[in-house]
Amino acid sequence: MTNFFETALRTLILEKNNHYNKDTMKLIKCLSFVVLFLSAGTMVAQEKDTEERKPGHTNNNRFKQLYEEFSTPNTYRSANGAPGPDYYQQQADYVMDIELDDKNAKLYGYETITYTNNSPDALEYLWVQLDQNVRAQTSKSKLIEGSGANPAEMAGSFVGQYMGAGFDGGFKIQEVKNSRGASLPYTINQTMMRVEMAKDLMPGAQFVFSVKWWYNIPEHTIDRARSGFETFDDGNRGFVIAQFFPRMAVYNDVEGWQNSQFFGRDEFALPFGDYEVNITVPADHTLDATGKLLNRKEIFSKTMMNRYAQAKKSYDKPVIIVTQAEAEEASKGFSTQKKTWKFRAENVRDYGFATSRRYIWDMMAVKIGDKDVMAVSVYPPEGNPLWEDYSTLAVASTLKSYSRMTFDYPYHKAISVHAKNQGMEYPMICWNYGRPEKDGSYSERTKYGMISVIIHEVGHNYFPMIVNSDERQWTWMDEGLNTFVQYVAEQDFGEWYPDAIAPNKEYPSRRGPANKIVNYMGGDQDEMAPIMTKGLNTYSFGNNAYGKPATGLNILRETIMGRDLFDYSFRTYAQRWMFKHPTPEDFFRTMEDASAVDLDWFWRSWFYSTEYTDIGVKEVKKFYVTSKMNKEVKEMMAARGMKEEDLPPLVYLVEEGSEDFEESMRTSTLKDVSTLQEYIMDNVPAAERANLKEPKFFYEVIFEKPGGIPMPIIAEYTYSDGTTERVTYPAQIWRKNDTSVGKVIASEKEITKIMVDPDEETADIDTSNNAWPKRKKLGEFNKFKEKVKGK
Ligand SMILES: [Zn+2]
Repeated sequence: MTNFFETALRTLILEKNNHYNKDTMKLIKCLSFVVLFLSAGTMVAQEKDTEERKPGHTNNNRFKQLYEEFSTPNTYRSANGAPGPDYYQQQADYVMDIELDDKNAKLYGYETITYTNNSPDALEYLWVQLDQNVRAQTSKSKLIEGSGANPAEMAGSFVGQYMGAGFDGGFKIQEVKNSRGASLPYTINQTMMRVEMAKDLMPGAQFVFSVKWWYNIPEHTIDRARSGFETFDDGNRGFVIAQFFPRMAVYNDVEGWQNSQFFGRDEFALPFGDYEVNITVPADHTLDATGKLLNRKEIFSKTMMNRYAQAKKSYDKPVIIVTQAEAEEASKGFSTQKKTWKFRAENVRDYGFATSRRYIWDMMAVKIGDKDVMAVSVYPPEGNPLWEDYSTLAVASTLKSYSRMTFDYPYHKAISVHAKNQGMEYPMICWNYGRPEKDGSYSERTKYGMISVIIHEVGHNYFPMIVNSDERQWTWMDEGLNTFVQYVAEQDFGEWYPDAIAPNKEYPSRRGPANKIVNYMGGDQDEMAPIMTKGLNTYSFGNNAYGKPATGLNILRETIMGRDLFDYSFRTYAQRWMFKHPTPEDFFRTMEDASAVDLDWFWRSWFYSTEYTDIGVKEVKKFYVTSKMNKEVKEMMAARGMKEEDLPPLVYLVEEGSEDFEESMRTSTLKDVSTLQEYIMDNVPAAERANLKEPKFFYEVIFEKPGGIPMPIIAEYTYSDGTTERVTYPAQIWRKNDTSVGKVIASEKEITKIMVDPDEETADIDTSNNAWPKRKKLGEFNKFKEKVKGK
């Protein structure tokens, strides 16, 4: 009888799950039927009220596997999320001679590209990216905007759009030649250039060609460019130079050529390669760039060499290489002499440099694994005192945090350059904002904005500079993952340098914690796109590509997977795809493969939809336990000519106030339930009987889910003696009923309060239904919602 009894119970639970939306009477009816059929041993098809039948529907189950959305794994990319046995990537090596004309703000370059075709395909042409063309007068960037009159326009943009004399930006391509010096036919389509070869480039073959070019450097402070120059009050310029040379596009197994146009928003997709770059600038400039400086002895004075030797041994604070006084002294002149800085960078996907006579330069060493890495800062006096106090410290701290979360930083240095209003990343070097007032004072907002942007941009060395995802297509793969690790690194910074963040006890992170994404996710659906949307086509770019994916990963780490499983899987992804080109599926698959956690439901709702989380307590019912058969079961048995002896010992749960409820049940205990006692005597060994709990209170808690996203239910039960108990029901609790589920709580103490998601870790957009008994005040969110509705 024991086995039978268990089967019957399991079936009851199953049936109950399927009937939560029905009223209680129907539910009881249905349960009774099951019991009767089972006890009678009949195989009659289960009776169902016709009104309960639903017409067929397509499978919209939120737990449906992601086979329709995911591309089929193949020999290039394996089902486990790792590179497959035939994985390949192209290589683009550059040798470049660059010259800066500081006076006229022009940049001249001659580059030789050696392109290696590691793909199995014969290539008829090559695609080269001309990103500077986004500033050309023929650019279509402005033409695709349909937002009408803006309240204000950048003056430069205004002149360009309405006065017919805009900035003459864009590459002036002077020649494209093969290795024998013969001109190659090429076609420029906006920001892309197709170079045609005399014959196909076969698998395994190399093609060498050169491009000669120049362009007018934009003033980035008035022209919202990712690179360019800033003019300081004394007339000197600070140049932060990137996207400055024609760069090879990515060719791979998922896109063919990634030649989607650059409209100014979606960033870049670039192959790895080795770079030899000679940069000629006025002799009084201080310069730093991607790669190893090959002619340091030629460039550095003796004093600088000595300071550099000290910096390499300084692990706790930066050593100044060029002081503020020296930078200010240099700023008074304008050398007509030139100096050529020679660099070599291996296995990088891009190149950037910063140069000015007004730069201060400091650095310190940081141990990463068994290697020393130099943490470096370059900034004008305008950045002080903030920059000398925090920049290099933030760089060093970032390298330590990110290395722990991913892999040891493989390059020999990481540079943070201060450029007004900039926040932009390149291999080993990045531009960052954060400038004090003219009198040197600064707000908390400026300080933390500066430290956070440095952590973020230095962090981009990992995503996408080393874990080289396609930024043109998937903004979230670098910005989202990076913003997630940035949050971890910010918290580390606060922990490692408490003096630097005093009087705050915790680093005031802007993104990461779940409750910070609630306003966005609960907002207007018409102005939202799934994360899995090309960045150019999203609405709220920062929330969509940075905040929401970062928060999603934080929820996975803290709430769904736990730190151990998450961190191992995240590290596995980073290490598998370090110096390679991952796709979204490679990330999704690895996170599941390395953890044994099925996350299809999470990717589906968080990354492929714009739904939100909203879970609450709908109802709490009190039950009493009795051995007394209820009326309905009696009627059923009579109708079928069954006798009471046909049933196994059943324990009846009777809801307070229902038809079968009697006042005497309130005072009864489990000892009074004869069917239960009978069962225990027959089935529980005497020695174990003393250990049985004797709950006095039985509740059915109905949780509701008005939001689309399934999430674990984190329920905190408070009992009459003030103690609390927290139970987390995994998200799979929603797999069969998407709108409400019930749990029976058997307890020795009375429940006085239930709170769902008490620490606000699931991004629940409406917490007014999170408490039972209902809280009196509707809370700020509802006021906000009313306001939005009224708009
Ligand atoms: Zn970023």
